Amino acid sequence: MKALFKPAASPGLELTERPEPSCGPGEVKIRVLRTGICGTDLHIEAWDAWAASAVAAPLVPGHEFCGTVVAVGAGVRDVHVGALVSGEGHVVCGTCRNCRAGRRHLCIRTSGVGVDRDGAFAQYVVLPETNVWVHSSADGSSGVDPDLGAIFDPFGNAVHTALSFPLVGEDVLITGAGPIGLMAAAVARHVGARFVVITDVSPYRLELAKTMGVDLALDVSRDRVADAQHRLGMVEGFDVALEMSGHPSALPDILANLNHGGRVAMLGLPAAPIQLDWGKVVTHMITLKGIYGREMFETWYAMSAFLRSGLDISAVITHRFPAGEWQQAFATARDGRCGKVVLDWTEV
Ligand SMILES: [Zn+2]
Ligand SMILES: [Zn+2]
Repeated sequence: MKALFKPAASPGLELTERPEPSCGPGEVKIRVLRTGICGTDLHIEAWDAWAASAVAAPLVPGHEFCGTVVAVGAGVRDVHVGALVSGEGHVVCGTCRNCRAGRRHLCIRTSGVGVDRDGAFAQYVVLPETNVWVHSSADGSSGVDPDLGAIFDPFGNAVHTALSFPLVGEDVLITGAGPIGLMAAAVARHVGARFVVITDVSPYRLELAKTMGVDLALDVSRDRVADAQHRLGMVEGFDVALEMSGHPSALPDILANLNHGGRVAMLGLPAAPIQLDWGKVVTHMITLKGIYGREMFETWYAMSAFLRSGLDISAVITHRFPAGEWQQAFATARDGRCGKVVLDWTEV
């Protein structure tokens, strides 16, 4: 099969021939139709300090995908050949305390598809049945657009973060208008927030945000979050903030604009420690919550339910490339003047 392969612990990827994986007991083999390109994949391609410390090469990267089931191993009961599926990229141990309690997203021995084990930048990928999310039955009913299916992983990050705190009637601040921030904005609107304000410094992404139902897309290189409050007639501060940028100024900015008792869900990974006014966290009784991955599988149920009930995130996919043009696709994703970039594996 054709695969985008990282042959050694050094920069670059190559589109090459790799042995087709086969499924063992409890596993499902999937013909990949589409993959999303994620920040993680850019780190792996560039082989920066994070990739060198966290990724096991040789490896086929890629963890955001949609495909069709072509084979199932012994003992697989609920996933059938022909089904359109995506995959949860965190393969959990099943036996640690959190796994046994049903809190699988908190597993202490998570193995990452396309990070610790071969991933989906290939014509075929194999996953445990428990990690497969079925979009449609084998007859194709209740399906989803494969492009959207390919971004269920980051969509799940957005949904998990947005649903961390009740948003009905609340004023929500989202810092960072990358693909996940954009989808989180659409989710916040869909589930009944009052005001949704998103910040970024990229004019392209702020423009895109306006198609996701935000009340205000704020360029924080020019305007302050306090100005947004003023323009919307807010007087007490935001109720909930979703930090999706990892930028060192985002969290201090959030704290300065939060109502007492405000809640913050943090998905953006800061590259270094951040200086914070902890006194304010204490006296304003702020809640901070870290978010990683998706809840298995409540987040997935919510995603499918939201799409079915009219949530439209399709505008977040701005570029599509055949897998053979992966270099252009990676360059586009790296450039930042894009939403989500999707690779088509039906034409390699
Ligand atoms: Zn990802
Ligand atoms: Zn576990």
